[in-house]
Amino acid sequence: MAIILDGQALADKIIDELKMAAQKLVKKPKLAVIIVGENPASLIYVKNKQKKAEYTGFDSLVIPLESDVTEETILEHIYVLNEDIDINAILVQLPLPDGINKKRIIEAIDPIKDVDGFTSYNFGRLALGYNPYVYPCTPKGIIRLLKEYNITLEGKNILVIGRSNIVGKPVSLMLQQENATVIMANSYTTNLKQLALNSDIIISAAGKSNLIDASFIKAGTVVVDVGINKINDKIQGDVNFDEVKNKASYITPVPKGIGPMTIAMLMQNTYELYKLQQNLIL
Ligand code: NAD
Repeated sequence: MAIILDGQALADKIIDELKMAAQKLVKKPKLAVIIVGENPASLIYVKNKQKKAEYTGFDSLVIPLESDVTEETILEHIYVLNEDIDINAILVQLPLPDGINKKRIIEAIDPIKDVDGFTSYNFGRLALGYNPYVYPCTPKGIIRLLKEYNITLEGKNILVIGRSNIVGKPVSLMLQQENATVIMANSYTTNLKQLALNSDIIISAAGKSNLIDASFIKAGTVVVDVGINKINDKIQGDVNFDEVKNKASYITPVPKGIGPMTIAMLMQNTYELYKLQQNLIL
């Protein structure tokens, strides 16, 4: 029976540590979130981020924009936030409506306020193995959780399922920095099961419920489920938890696994950017 990688418990601990640190600051770190349109999942995510920022003792500013807003108007908001010395961190909630050039929007964020680490400046530095200002939240949360449970990454065969810029690509790069051997799968991969059975650690970020069942798992595999799939109004991951937990050595639940870790890392990144901008040593 696998040990549960309790993302919720670790996230709560990290948030409480940040809360204590924030109490000692003369000025509160401030996170700005731009949300375009009425995507129901995005509205919930933004509300949760705002609530968590308040709990942590940070200030937050949410800028809701209509779904038919022009790219120029979004850019103008970003330019204002870039110049505002009270704003330490800027996040544009994805996805953006069709017709908006996501690349142009993300690239407009000043890299030192890029709390998701998605600008080419920060992502490029990550890819090169240099320190970006901050690392992307979900990959950072995954690695933080594995380390909390003393799971060795060096020398391990790790299968990352998914190659998005948000999860699959950055987590693969970060794991290589940890000296792991990483294989990245995508929807065209023809031998996923074989790759999974050869892996010590599987990180699934495909967004496909029941993609990974017990037949994909060799005994002792560590399984990290990043997927969030809404099935009949219930949230499920990519992994068949009930089956896989009997074979894996460690497994993340969904919910209460990588989701809360992602929000905790968002708060940590906000704090780190604040410190950088205050020219203090972390
Ligand atoms: P995405 O849709 O951009 O990317 C999905 C990736 O999975 C693609 O690269 C695709 O090629 C790959 N894929 C799809 N089906 C596959 C298959 N059968 N075999 C191999 N690869 C396959 O999604 P994303 O933004 O990376 O998010 C992935 C999932 O993680 C989604 O469910 C999303 O909701 C979730 N997510 C969770 C968190 C969190 O905090 N827990 C954060 C970000 C994303």
